[in-house]
Amino acid sequence: MTTNLRVIPLGGLGEIGRNMMLIEYGEDIIVVDVGLMFPEEEMLGVDLVIPDFSYLRDNKEKLRAVFLTHGHEDHVGALPYFLREFNAPIYGAKLTDGLIRVKLQEHRLLQGVETHVVTSGEVIKAGVFEVEFFPVAHSIPDACGLIIRTPLGLIVHTGDFKLDHTPVMDQHTDLIRLAQVGAEGCLLLLADSTYAEQEGYTPSEQLVGEALRNILVNAPGRVIVATFASLISRVQQVIDAAVFTKRKVFVTGRSMIDNVAMARQLGYLNAPEGTIVGVEEMRNTPLSKLVIVTTGSQGEPTSALTRMANGDHRHIQIVEGDTVVLSASPIPGNETAVYRNVDNLFRLGADVLYNRVSNIHVRGHASREELKIIQGLLQPEYFVPVHGEYRHLVVHAKLAEAVGVPKGNAFVLTDGDVLEIDEESAWTAERVPASYVYIDGLGIGDVDQHILRDRAHLSTDGVVVVMVAVDKSTGKLERAPEVLARGFVDVGGQEDLLERSKSVAAKALEGASHYTEFTDVNSRIKDAVSKFLYDETRRRPMVLTVTVEV
Ligand SMILES: [Zn+2]
Ligand SMILES: [Zn+2]
Repeated sequence: MTTNLRVIPLGGLGEIGRNMMLIEYGEDIIVVDVGLMFPEEEMLGVDLVIPDFSYLRDNKEKLRAVFLTHGHEDHVGALPYFLREFNAPIYGAKLTDGLIRVKLQEHRLLQGVETHVVTSGEVIKAGVFEVEFFPVAHSIPDACGLIIRTPLGLIVHTGDFKLDHTPVMDQHTDLIRLAQVGAEGCLLLLADSTYAEQEGYTPSEQLVGEALRNILVNAPGRVIVATFASLISRVQQVIDAAVFTKRKVFVTGRSMIDNVAMARQLGYLNAPEGTIVGVEEMRNTPLSKLVIVTTGSQGEPTSALTRMANGDHRHIQIVEGDTVVLSASPIPGNETAVYRNVDNLFRLGADVLYNRVSNIHVRGHASREELKIIQGLLQPEYFVPVHGEYRHLVVHAKLAEAVGVPKGNAFVLTDGDVLEIDEESAWTAERVPASYVYIDGLGIGDVDQHILRDRAHLSTDGVVVVMVAVDKSTGKLERAPEVLARGFVDVGGQEDLLERSKSVAAKALEGASHYTEFTDVNSRIKDAVSKFLYDETRRRPMVLTVTVEV
């Protein structure tokens, strides 16, 4: 049994997304966040990427609790997949809890899951750990950081945060509590690195509110605002601007409708009576008196905005005079889909305001001066930058050492690295599995690198199908193989190439006296034809064989 403290990031260190961290001591493990990542463009046909749970799977009996810092997808999105395998109480602030309950309901997983609403300052015991939530300013209400009391000292995890002095809904980062922790002594700080390259201070969310209001004042017609369904504070800003300009608000997109209903019920969205309207009333309202809040800021194929851009939304047809606001930067990997929507919306006559042309999405993360303030208040003995691509982590670690973290005590970890801490020192120990787990449709992890490679081949190099009929008892060819190609080298001489691959396939079976295994026949043909086509064309089409025994 180990009595060192072990900090194990399973995601979010080295990429933006799928945040998940384990903190282990002796017989206890707690989990901070279970997020997902949207796939990069080369991950063809994959819907989502989630953390690798292998290490936790091997240490299932140590799992005590899950703590969620806030309700963004990159922090809670993988919970439905996690909960199919693991059972542990889940703690989060009120809105976070509301958002995950909506999500679990969608996945029909709410039954049998134990979720708890936590308030700031409350302390939850989980094994040897005691965990306290403290409020932070971020682009969603109820965002929290964690103060984790361990047998070796205090860990502070900032979650996603910034130091906004005029935050929406008035939630400030609790610097006073952090100063107290600093005075007591902070063993380890884990802090948000997303904007560690950004000089100065991150602008206030208030700027977004002002920008939205200006857009609504100046737009000649209807305004359509697309954002994340979980960005509740952005929705509030739209409602405020709508009230200011005497416009009605119509909400569309399944997850947006559900989240808005939940947030209104919990009191996180305030709209004067009659501001939010249904379909009938929307139809009877002049376009210049309307704002539409929708999903689809990431170009998701089935989202409401994409349907509008394609002209097949049930209730909303884009017309000249519409203004569409994309109030969320495209997550890397989604750009193509996002800009396809932008193009289509322009084609339909709308004016489109997106991140490249208008400052309408303020960042929810702390810039360098803010990060220095946190370091100054906590003066941690050890530091691990979290939530960032590799360069963000490195830059943040350097910043920490520049403002007081002892040299060599800032550790740049990436997913799967284990940091061990004992009474005297800290070091990186072994690695645990932390590969990308792909979610494709409904399955978990049934897509691996091979499948992705196949899909890449299909999309760039096409597919070649070789059909052979072999004698059941001898394995000899019954007749000449047939070869078909789709999406493969559409150049002159292709006929000839396919003709020649027939004889390559035939040759591959030469000398065969008796094949009983289909797989043997298949792989002989596949190898020979693949090699031949590569030699001839430098392409690697996917080669499929269809063998018929006669
Ligand atoms: Zn966030
Ligand atoms: Zn985040």
